[in-house]
Amino acid sequence: MSSGFFLGLVFGAIAAVLVLGVVMRQRFTRLQTRIQVLEDDIARERDAVKRAEDKSAAANALIEKLPTPLFLLNDELTVLSNNAAAIDLAGRNLAGNGIAFGFRQPGFLQTIEAAMETGTGQRMQLELPVPIERSFLVQVEPILSSAGSDRGNQIPTLLVMMLDVTQVMRTEQFRVDFVANVSHELRTPLASLIGFIETLLGPAKDDQEAQQRFLAIMQEQADRMYRLIADLLSLSQIELDEHSLPDEPVDLRSIAGEVEALLTMKAVERDMRLVLEIEEGLPMVRGDRDQLTQVLQNLMDNAVKYGNPGTEVRVTMKRDETRVAVAISDQGAGIAREHLPRLTERFYRVDAARSRAMGGTGLGLAIVKHILNRHRGKLTIQSEVGEGSTFRISLPASN
Ligand code: ADP
Repeated sequence: MSSGFFLGLVFGAIAAVLVLGVVMRQRFTRLQTRIQVLEDDIARERDAVKRAEDKSAAANALIEKLPTPLFLLNDELTVLSNNAAAIDLAGRNLAGNGIAFGFRQPGFLQTIEAAMETGTGQRMQLELPVPIERSFLVQVEPILSSAGSDRGNQIPTLLVMMLDVTQVMRTEQFRVDFVANVSHELRTPLASLIGFIETLLGPAKDDQEAQQRFLAIMQEQADRMYRLIADLLSLSQIELDEHSLPDEPVDLRSIAGEVEALLTMKAVERDMRLVLEIEEGLPMVRGDRDQLTQVLQNLMDNAVKYGNPGTEVRVTMKRDETRVAVAISDQGAGIAREHLPRLTERFYRVDAARSRAMGGTGLGLAIVKHILNRHRGKLTIQSEVGEGSTFRISLPASN
């Protein structure tokens, strides 16, 4: 073998190794690039999973904190999950149990079954009597969910949402009752006015004496309607202002004097006496003078109206630490215990006939309660049947 051939072979081999090296290097670089791409993909996937996990944790936290009770049920009506409000409502965690373990109302279970059978959303109103009476608007929605599925695939489930509408229903009932009460209170004097007008235009047209008598009754009825409307207007005005705390310094002593002067005639007519006992140096209270006048007027007027003839009405005022305590006591028929919690409701009367005969609207104590609410004041009523009543109010002193 010639040395030239040998050298050629060697150079050839070196060239081949060099070419191979270059090729390998290129392949290695490509491989590195692909690994890098794969690593980037994995990092992106990890980020996406992390984001999804974060999102799902946020959604879970949100669902958990929602005040609306939520139940997720499978097709056998077993609870797959329930949020804190649902656990609170059912009184225990129903996860793993049938929904019927928590709620036995047939209408409720039928609504859920109907949603499962038809695959369409269903709605019903549910009344729960215990522990306190509450009304719920129940919405049952069929959805696909991976909750309760081992392989993460989506299965048909039911979402049961229970919206507490107790307050809405109460407000609605209150509105209906209120309109009915106002209409009733206005209709009676109005019917009497219409009747007397017809009589005056007809049978009593020429009867002077009857005319005088009827006009006096008509005036009384018109006054009653006027008082009712004035009380309704002041109640709605007080409600409008109820959340703004009034802070003008008010002297209750001078108000008591003014109300006493206003009621003296009425008291004398009933052979009654008004006695004021006001502590020396009584502090001012923070409030709205006109409204506090209305409070004292309503309470002192009631004491004169419902006190027995020949007795006295005593009004005392004294400091009680940081507050001023006022008590208005009468010696009247008193109020039976069962009526006490309802006395401040609009139109609530113990004896409706007596209240009307005395010119009452049934709104006086409701007005007192709302004014005291606005003033951060308190009202307590103490009464003994056959002995009399004491209405106590307490208001924050201004210094
Ligand atoms: P009214 O205009 O009927 O007096 P109120 O709201 O002032 O309305 O009072 C509600 C009801 O509370 C009255 O109808 C009456 O039955 C009862 N009441 C209020 N004050 C007294 C009192 N001092 N003594 C006995 N009953 C009272």
